[in-house]
Amino acid sequence: MTLPNTANVVVIGGGVMGASTAYHLALKGCKKVVLLERNSFFGIEATGKCAGGIRYQFDTEINVKLSRISLPMLDRFEEELGQAIDIRKCGYLFVLTREMDVAEFKRQVALQNSLGARTQWLDGDEIRRRLPLMHYPDAIGGTLGPDDGLADPNGVVQGYISGARRLGALCLTDVSVTGIRTDHGRVQAVETEQGVIETPIAVNAAGPWAGQIGRMAGVDVPIVPVRRQIAVTTPLPQIPPDFPFVIEFARSLYFHREGPGILTGMSNNSEPVSFSQNVDPEWEMTHLEAACQRMPLLEQAGISSRWAGLYENSPDAHPILGAVDQLGGFYCIGGFSGHGFMHGPVCGLLLAEEILDGKTSTLDISSLRLSRFQQGKTTREYNVV
Ligand SMILES: Cc1cc2nc3c(=O)[nH]c(=O)nc-3n(C[C@H](O)[C@H](O)[C@H](O)COP(=O)(O)OP(=O)(O)OC[C@H]3O[C@@H](n4cnc5c(N)ncnc54)[C@H](O)[C@@H]3O)c2cc1C
Repeated sequence: MTLPNTANVVVIGGGVMGASTAYHLALKGCKKVVLLERNSFFGIEATGKCAGGIRYQFDTEINVKLSRISLPMLDRFEEELGQAIDIRKCGYLFVLTREMDVAEFKRQVALQNSLGARTQWLDGDEIRRRLPLMHYPDAIGGTLGPDDGLADPNGVVQGYISGARRLGALCLTDVSVTGIRTDHGRVQAVETEQGVIETPIAVNAAGPWAGQIGRMAGVDVPIVPVRRQIAVTTPLPQIPPDFPFVIEFARSLYFHREGPGILTGMSNNSEPVSFSQNVDPEWEMTHLEAACQRMPLLEQAGISSRWAGLYENSPDAHPILGAVDQLGGFYCIGGFSGHGFMHGPVCGLLLAEEILDGKTSTLDISSLRLSRFQQGKTTREYNVV
């Protein structure tokens, strides 16, 4: 496929954010939308390496509101796009083992309920009753989101890419963006290894690489890559089909059913900023020891697959979404800090509204703009796993 010389919008990055943005732009009637992905396949970076969790359980109003729109979009996805995405409403069960988290999570239950999410508080005995395969003598409480669960990230990306193409968008793989030309404070063109596309609008949807794309445009986009890793076990027939997505919050240690086995991850809070996606064997050992302590059954299983991927962390663990004040025609959709897959549908829609209508109508995104960092108007999301 040859590169076009001109476009109305160039979207950089073909993960869930770029794919959703391209689809929603095309759905709203935008012509000459071009999406560029440097890999040979769409959705194989952060999106393809994620755990697939979708939840209403967040600490800030804006994140709960994003979920309140995005998760129903996932429910309607197959009907809208003709692509199955394997939604499983198995529920998220946050297990708390530290007193300091109890008041915070009780406050969150009230916030989430006030915004329409059905989160419930559970005491320690109820957690032990619901998780007979797990060893949580020290659980002091927790929260259950009955409408939280899992969906297939690959299906979501493929659905949006196919939908965007049907509506006329050009979605290309094997095209690496190398520069962004600007003049008089506006985007003029996107440079790639295969040529230059003149465009008035460039969307930075490069996930963990969003800081690099920002630098190409002369904009400081404070998004950094941090490695996170996952292991999936061989089959464990003892795991019931309705086993929830369990998160031990204090250690960011999580478990969910993946096919006939268990997918487990644990975040290393000392992990440095880097683009490394090699599995760290030492951390894997620490992680699996912790996992076996909490779920002794895992000792009977082997590891069927393991991988590392990159979180795309922003300073306050909220996305950077919308127009960038200092450069006309430059837009960001990134920095989801490890929970972006689930917000991909709504954020692509919101960005399409902002680009085409000059403002969003579905939800006010003023608190998510890049300018919040200069203005010191940030609030940190507590429920980062
Ligand atoms: C281990 C792990 C577990 C996670 N679990 C969950 C979860 O359970 N639930 C959840 O909601 N989220 C989860 N996340 C987070 C989620 O994966 C991300 O927030 C989300 O996928 C980010 O999507 P993205 O499109 O911004 O990034 P990506 O999917 O990384 O897409 C960015 C794309 O940009 C491309 N690109 C970069 N530079 C260039 C360039 N110069 N030219 C062209 N293309 C370029 C990249 O190749 C990449 O394909 C997890 C992440 C990890 C790593």
